[in-house]
Formats: sequence, structure tokens, C-alpha cells
Amino acid sequence: MATGKINVSVDNIFPLIKKFLYSDHEIFLRELISNATDATLKLKHLTSIGEAKVDYGNPIIEVKVDKEGKKLHIIDQGIGMTQDEVEKYINEVAFSGAEEFLNKYEDGAKDAGIIGHFGLGFYSAFMVAHKVEIFTKSFKEDAEAVHWTCDGSPEFTLGKADKKDRGTEIVLHIAEDSTEFLEENRISELLRKYNKFMPIPIKFGTRTETLPKPEGAKEDDPAPTKEVDNIINNPNPAWTKQPTDLEDKDYKEFYRELYPMQFEEPLFHIHLNVDYPFNLTGILYFPKLTNDLNIQKDKIQLYQNQVFVTDNVEGIVPEFLTMLRGVIDSPDIPLNVSRSYLQADGAVKKISSYITRKVADKLNSLFKNNREDFEKKWNDIKIVIEYGMLSEEKFFEKADKFALYPTVDGDYFTFEELQEKIKDKQTDKDDKLVILYASDKEAQHSYIEAAKAKGYEVLLLDSPIISHLMQKLETSKEKISFARVDADHIDNLIKKEDTQISKLSDEEKEKLKANLEEVIDDKNYTVQLEAMDSDASPFIITEPEFMRRMKEMQQTGGGGMFGMGNMPDMYNIVVNTNHELVGEILNTKTAKKRERLINQSIDLAKLSKGLLKGQELTEFIKRSYEMVK
Ligand code: ADP
Repeated sequence: MATGKINVSVDNIFPLIKKFLYSDHEIFLRELISNATDATLKLKHLTSIGEAKVDYGNPIIEVKVDKEGKKLHIIDQGIGMTQDEVEKYINEVAFSGAEEFLNKYEDGAKDAGIIGHFGLGFYSAFMVAHKVEIFTKSFKEDAEAVHWTCDGSPEFTLGKADKKDRGTEIVLHIAEDSTEFLEENRISELLRKYNKFMPIPIKFGTRTETLPKPEGAKEDDPAPTKEVDNIINNPNPAWTKQPTDLEDKDYKEFYRELYPMQFEEPLFHIHLNVDYPFNLTGILYFPKLTNDLNIQKDKIQLYQNQVFVTDNVEGIVPEFLTMLRGVIDSPDIPLNVSRSYLQADGAVKKISSYITRKVADKLNSLFKNNREDFEKKWNDIKIVIEYGMLSEEKFFEKADKFALYPTVDGDYFTFEELQEKIKDKQTDKDDKLVILYASDKEAQHSYIEAAKAKGYEVLLLDSPIISHLMQKLETSKEKISFARVDADHIDNLIKKEDTQISKLSDEEKEKLKANLEEVIDDKNYTVQLEAMDSDASPFIITEPEFMRRMKEMQQTGGGGMFGMGNMPDMYNIVVNTNHELVGEILNTKTAKKRERLINQSIDLAKLSKGLLKGQELTEFIKRSYEMVK
């Protein structure tokens, strides 16, 4: 037995390791299992090229909890280490690696983001253990088994062990403050989180398997059972296979493996597979999305060679795609670095634009190959596409060809088709194409009907970010504008040459306006007199496009003017001066009767826009009953 002292330049490295990334202590298990996996894969490689003359067999990694002895064991059947190798790799290489890592990141550790996901390696064991032992036997012929211990000070002991089998066993003597790692449930949870898809089978205890009943067994004979290894991982997850070897059902099965609690099936998947200029594999799924943007994020899992790293892929995947699900696996993503560094990294930028392109291409082929199906899915995927069009110029260019604009009648147009369809009717006198839309078919029913009566097409655009997208389309395309059907009187929304002549004189108009304003007396409503067809509605309430849209944009982040989000809604009361009822109001002599007519008319207009509520509604109903009495 020999003792030695690890060559330390900072001699307080162990307390540092313990303190380091306090919330991330659990990663020690991933680090140790990664080492065990590497050791096993190295042996596989050496046997395959004939350099290790041993039987590779079907090696597994075993994790064992010894609650009474307060120990955790991680056992592999990999290459193992000779005494020289322990000195070299554990005492020198691993140690200086850990030391360097700590020196580098100690200061930034608290706001590290992604820092700490990788790099601490073997010495991360000291985050949870007061003493660590290694029992190891190299695959090399005549190698003697070695025993190394270290109690968290720079001193270690190194001697012989009587280990018979090839491989390494790491024994952690769990510290008093880390006894959670002696709980089977906790370990089981960690294995599921970090090691679910690691390439070597990982055993954690045993489980009882029910076997088929032997032939001739009686009805009430219990089925025989057998204790088998409880393997917690799937060493060959779908993303590591070739797309040509997988069927649709395999992708769906893998989705369920990833999200066991998710009952809805994904809409479609995208298999990512590149090896130049960077390595990346993965499968992305489009789930059914609702309009709530935030709750759906952070479902994509990032792996590095099948080891789980994080489910926060911010900076690696373009933001609009963080609503998708699935996995990305790349050894080329530098993970020991902060997020801001990651975002600036050239390889990561390439990865991000590759993913964007793949997603756009997949959508395009879905659109081209089966438009009907694409239309059916549109409502569930539009939010990602619209978001992408807003945030990534490259994506906008591609998506512009397949982004759909549904009408209130359930037709779907691309932008180009829409332009073609409406250009004759909906071009105004200034040669501008006016695209009419509704956000709610029920609430805006009467306005939609008014537009349809003119032969206009009305779109149904109801996603929360649509106002931003309209703004973008208006600036990137020529001579178009969007207007919600209730933004003004339909004749004003698409202004044609022929202006109507008003039946009222200027004097009469002034009087009418004064009468109306006296009764309405609400600063959020502005009276707007218009000479229109005598059979058009006498009163309609409109909500000017610009103000409303700016408000909406501010509510969904960015755009618009400062403080707009808190402004009250502003409405116009459009009064058709050519309508008979309006003439009657003007000619009514008694103030009381006039007031009643105005109130009743305005309430009807409000009712049509869904604005009549509370006391106003109660009074309206009372007044209406009196009128029909
Ligand atoms: P890294 O794995 O990043 O090289 P570690 O600190 O985790 O750093 O480990 C240092 C070295 O110790 C490894 O490179 C390997 O040579 C050796 N090692 C660690 N664990 C094992 C193991 N289970 N079997 C064989 N060698 C191991």
C-alpha cells in the first residue's frame, strides 16, 4: 500500500468541488456513468480492431445502492486501469482537468447557464461523497487489480485489490449532507433523466417478469415469474438509426418513450442527420400547439453522444423552434461555456441555421405532397410558422410559399393565391390591395356579413402574434394593407372612387353631431358621420385598425408605441347620414324622445359588437320591453 499526495496548486480544491454549482450536485452520477460507458466503448473498439484479446461479450453497467453501508457503487466491465494508469489518469489528468475547470468557471458559476453541464468529470464524485474508492482491473493480460482511495483531501492511497473481473468499480461513501443519493427513488429518477438513452445497458436492481403459463396449466394456477435485470435505458434510440430503417410507427413509439405522459400523437416529425460541417443527429416533432406560447417551450432535449445534457436549448435551436419537441444530439456543441458565448459560436450558428432550413424544407414538402392534410394541420402548426416568419428572415423567405391564410369559410390560400383571388375586387382607389380579416367569427359576425355582401373575401386570422406578422407583410410586400372587418365602415375600409352624396346639409350635420354627442357622452367613443347607401346600417361601432393593432402588438411583446398596452379601447360610432332612422332622429322635436332613439340605436350598435354589458345591457332590455309594449 502506498500513499501519495496529489499535486495541487490550489490546495482547497475539494471544498471548492463541493461548493461548486450547488444545485447541480446530481450530475456526479451522469459523469461517472459516462466514464463507465467510455471505458466500455473503448474496449469494444479495441476488441474490434484486434488490439484487445478478450471476449467483449454483452457488457452492462451496474448501479447499486447500499443504504446501510451508506455507499453507492458504479460498476463497469470496460477496459479498467493498471496502477500506472490510475496514477496517470486519476491523479494527474482527471485532477488537473477538474482543477482547470474550477479555476476557469468558479467566478461565473452562479449565473453559468449551461456551464457545469460537462467537464468536472471523475472528481464531481466529491460533491456528494466524503470518500471515494476505485477498484479496477485492466483488460491487459496479467494486469493486477488496483485499489485507490481518497477521502477528499489531496492525499490518496494506492495498492493492490483482489478484484477478479475486468473493469472498474467506483464506490462512493456518501456524505452526511447528501444522503438523498442513497434513496432508490432518487437514483432511479436520475438514471431516467440523464441515462435513458445511453449506449451501454445500465442495470439498477432487478424486476419480476411474468412468464407465459406452461402448456396444460390449470386456469387458476399463477403464471410463473422470473427475476431479471432491471435495465433502465434504451441503448439504441430511434435518432441513432438511419431514417430509411424507421417507419412512421417507430417515430411515434419513440415520441411516447420521450414523453410517456403525453397522450396526444405528434403531427409529424423531422429526422436530422448531418456529419459535415458538424455532427448532429436528432428527431424533432411538431406537437399540436395551442395559442399559449410560453407553456409549450423547453421540451426539446439536448444530448451529447446519447448523454442527456439539458432540456433548455435556448441559443442552439432558433427560438421559434423551441416549441417543438424531440431530441438533438451533437458532440460539436461546446457545453462548458456560457449561453452568450454559445450564441456567438460559429458551429452553433451553423447548427441553428441548418435546423431552420430542415424544418422549412420539411414543411414545404408536406405542403407540396399533401396539401389537403397540410391545411388540416395548419391550425395546430401555424403559431410556429408565423413566429418563425417573424423572427428569421431566411425562414420567412421559404415559408412565404407555404404559409396559409384561411378564410372565414374554410378555404386556405397562400399569400400569392390570395392576392390573385382578391385583386380585382379589393383594390382601393389608391391602387392598394386591402386584405380583410376577422379574429373571431362569432363576435364579428355582422361586420363579416357586411364585407361578404360586397363580395369581399374575409380571412380568419386569430393567432396571438398575427398583428406582428401583418405588420411585417405590409412592409415587405408592395401596396397591401390588412384591415379587420370592424376597423371602419366597409365602404371606408376599401375606398372606391364614387363618393356618396349626403342627404344632410352641413348645418344639419352639425346639429346631428351635437345631439349625438350630448347623449353618448363617453370619451372613448368618437362620432363619425358618413354619407352611405340608405340601406346600409344606420349606426355601427368600429375600432380603428392602427390603434388596435399597436395595442395588440404591445401586449404580445415588442412593437407599438410605449404605454399603448394600458390605453383604453377607442371606438368610432359611424353614423350613416343617409339612413331614414338618422333623419328621424334629427327631426325629432322632443329632447326626451330623441334621447331614447339615440340610446336605443347606439345600444343596438354596441350589441352587434359585443360591447353591451352590465347595467347598460339591463337598461337596454328594460327600455326595449317598454317599446314593444
Ligand atoms: P474525462 O472522462 O473527461 O477524461 P474524468 O475526470 O472523468 O475525465 O476521467 C479521467 C480519466 O480517468 C478518463 O479519461 C479515463 O482514462 C479514466 N477513467 C475514469 N473512469 C474510468 C473507468 N470507469 N474506467 C476506466 N477508466 C476510467
